[in-house]
Amino acid sequence: ERSQREQCVRELLCRVTGAEAATVVNNNAAAVLLVLATLASRREVLVSRGELIEIGGSFRMPEIMKAAGCRLVEVGTTNRTHLKDYDGAIGPRTALLMKVHPSNYEIRGFTSAVSERELAALARARSLPMVSDLGSGMLVDLRRWGLPYEPTPADVIADGVDVVTFSGDKLLGGPQAGIIVGRADLLARLKRNPLKRALRLDKLTLAALEAVLRMYADPERVAERVPTLRHLTRPLADIAAQAERLLPAFRRALAGRASVASIACESQAGSGSLPASRLPSRALAIRPLGRRPERAVEDFARAFRALAVPVIGRVQAGALVFDLRCLDDEDRLLTQLDRLAIGQAESG
Ligand SMILES: *Cc1c(COP(=O)(O)O)cnc(C)c1O
Repeated sequence: ERSQREQCVRELLCRVTGAEAATVVNNNAAAVLLVLATLASRREVLVSRGELIEIGGSFRMPEIMKAAGCRLVEVGTTNRTHLKDYDGAIGPRTALLMKVHPSNYEIRGFTSAVSERELAALARARSLPMVSDLGSGMLVDLRRWGLPYEPTPADVIADGVDVVTFSGDKLLGGPQAGIIVGRADLLARLKRNPLKRALRLDKLTLAALEAVLRMYADPERVAERVPTLRHLTRPLADIAAQAERLLPAFRRALAGRASVASIACESQAGSGSLPASRLPSRALAIRPLGRRPERAVEDFARAFRALAVPVIGRVQAGALVFDLRCLDDEDRLLTQLDRLAIGQAESG
């Protein structure tokens, strides 16, 4: 009997999110497009004005709505949206209520937003589906490692949301993919849409996603095994100890040309995840000696990038700074240090 390619991944997703059904597509933009085009074509979708996001790579919520053939109905104001705003905007052409995670910005001050739980209750009372685009969608609660709370798909499913979309390659740390979990009857409609076939994942990506989801099925060890999570949860003391270990070798390699110090720094998670939080970390800061240090620091940065395994830092206040949070292979870095060709043109 011909089997379903997605079967394995679906079961794992249902297990970790508690959803009835799951499916996967090429990326989260495709997931949102498929959901809107299937459940809301030629009808209205209600979204708060505070959630009309643009993220990198030209994903803009109003444009996705248009591409999916829906009419966006803006609700509330930029800083404050209330349940009664959604309630008052529901009409005969309303297809669904939607919440979008403001992935890469934060609205602060006099603000108010409606929670997933409240909105899901309103949707249910009015017999409409409620969709939540979580963006990065972390599968485990990051507070376990002292990190800020990010709503998990399991949390919003438990809050009564009908369909949840999120990325496979942001905080999750897997391959590029868009994941959709939720009510079985609604997901069955997605699977029947010809767009689903056009947006599907290729089988190698599916295999990679399955491997990563299996790691999440073992929550005790997931933080060691998934590199993204390992780096995010790495204890500061561990990073500081690494800085001390590396310092003598860096000083030796750069003797007479630069000073090297271990400094406190902050790591920032990219990809529209953990928008406003910075994690305390430790870095090596390299300051060129001699005249024209601003020029020299660019030479240093270029020399590190030109190594067999390129080492990429950032230039900050006249120093070349290497945040050590994501350095796994210390030995490989050290064995390259005597091959630094500072002051020579980059060979490409
Ligand atoms: C990142 C993001 C997307 C797009 O996800 P991709 O997997 O990059 O296509 C959509 N919505 C939100 C809220 C996001 O943060």
